[in-house]
Amino acid sequence: MHPHDTTDAPQKTCSKCGESKPATLEYFHSQKLGRYGVRSVCKVCTAAYKIATKEQNRAWREANKERLKESQRAYYQQNREERLEKQKAYYEAHREERIEYTHAWYEINRETQNEKRRARYQADPKYRKQIIESVRVYYQENREKRLLYSRAYHRANREERIEYAREYGKIWYKKNRERKIESDRKWKQANPEKARLYTRKWQRANPEKVAAYYEANREYFIEKNRAWYQANRERKRIAVRDWRKANKLRVRTYGQNHRARKHNAPGSHTAEDIQAQYKRQKGRCYYAACGYSKLGDSYEIEHVIPVSRENTSNGMENIVLACRSCNASKNNKLPHEWPEGGRLL
Ligand SMILES: [Zn+2]
Ligand SMILES: [Zn+2]
Repeated sequence: MHPHDTTDAPQKTCSKCGESKPATLEYFHSQKLGRYGVRSVCKVCTAAYKIATKEQNRAWREANKERLKESQRAYYQQNREERLEKQKAYYEAHREERIEYTHAWYEINRETQNEKRRARYQADPKYRKQIIESVRVYYQENREKRLLYSRAYHRANREERIEYAREYGKIWYKKNRERKIESDRKWKQANPEKARLYTRKWQRANPEKVAAYYEANREYFIEKNRAWYQANRERKRIAVRDWRKANKLRVRTYGQNHRARKHNAPGSHTAEDIQAQYKRQKGRCYYAACGYSKLGDSYEIEHVIPVSRENTSNGMENIVLACRSCNASKNNKLPHEWPEGGRLL
């Protein structure tokens, strides 16, 4: 008769209470070597005994704590080799599975695990020290690998990283605004040239922002310019004078072009065009009246058909270089109206 079978089970008499009960797992705890595969004491008596001796047992365990521990340790040690061997074999046989399982488990429990670790890290200084040390050792031992990895990671996540840095920077800036302004000020003071370059670069890259800023602070800028001009009037005047002196030809062509526009004469010319013309005339006046005299520095830009007349032009096809006297003498005549020039049309 099987002990799990409750119907038609043989009766067994409890050695404690003397009651006769079916020899099944409902009434007795299992014991392989017992009659019908169950213990001699019934479940009710066992439970009563446990309750009665609970306090006693606890007291005994407390009194024999060290001894218990020692015997546990001895047992553990005795079977250590065997146990480790078995464990190793099992691990080897289930390697892939185990790794997969660990990953899956971690995926599922990531947040709770991290939370637990964080909490422990905060609360337990010993643990904290241990973590810091292990990270340090890991970093030291895996320096090359780490650098390679981080480089690859940064390359692969460039956009996100930039975005993240920007976001993080904004948050940081909000928190540290005063500090940042102060440190920027110091840096600018120490690196005025670089600061100017950066500002200019930024302004070139953000013309709308510059314009908006100017618009919003218009009065301020006008006043600032006025004050600057007032304070630097003499300096400015000298600078303009020096520039004009160094760019005489340019000034002259600007003047000519301006005058021509006023007369609605089409075409224009540059300082370079004039220099080329000077070479073509081999540095001599265009007209015969002075005997094609050497021009030197004091030549004048001459419109063959004067800009005050019809069908004129300010382009090079109508421009020659003349000495001062020829220019004054020709004035606004056409070539055939001034035969001394020797350039009849
Ligand atoms: Zn009993
Ligand atoms: Zn001349």
